[in-house]
Amino acid sequence: MYRNKIKMEIDSNSYNEGFARMATVAFLAPLDPTLDEIADIKTAISEAITNCVIHGYEGGEGIIYMNMYIEDNKFSVEIIDNGVGIEDIDKAMEPMYTTKRDAERSGMGFCFMEAFMDELKVDSSVGKGTTIFMNKYINKMG
Ligand code: ATP
Ligand code: MG
Repeated sequence: MYRNKIKMEIDSNSYNEGFARMATVAFLAPLDPTLDEIADIKTAISEAITNCVIHGYEGGEGIIYMNMYIEDNKFSVEIIDNGVGIEDIDKAMEPMYTTKRDAERSGMGFCFMEAFMDELKVDSSVGKGTTIFMNKYINKMG
């Protein structure tokens, strides 16, 4: 059984979104993921981190916690902010729903996370913050 974990504390800004993506790719390497799997996971991570930066902390200062786990061929990730939180999670997860339409947001972030990962869970409370949990099985065919 192969197990691994990395817990990161990241300053909330868009530069660190790139770092989070690259760290994820390096972390996944032992599982020998396909290019498609890598692309899917990078997209899901980008969407989740970007949401922390622009919605959770509204472009201001804050810490994003990113915890990654591998258990055999299962990759899991938690992305946590202590920002504003989400009032209605079901509504937020609907396609095209965004609270920042003016800022060129299309409201598709959660849909991408859901489509590209095997599981997506969102936990949030207003004024406390948001936790995103996602997992994906790598190399299912292998
Ligand atoms: P896009 O991702 O397409 O640029 P978006 O970010 O608005 O647009 P989603 O990522 O699907 O769309 O998020 C939907 C809504 O959920 C956001 O508009 C925002 O109101 C809320 N939301 C998402 N993540 C967070 C978060 N970490 N903290 C607070 N609110 C959030
Ligand atoms: Mg988004």
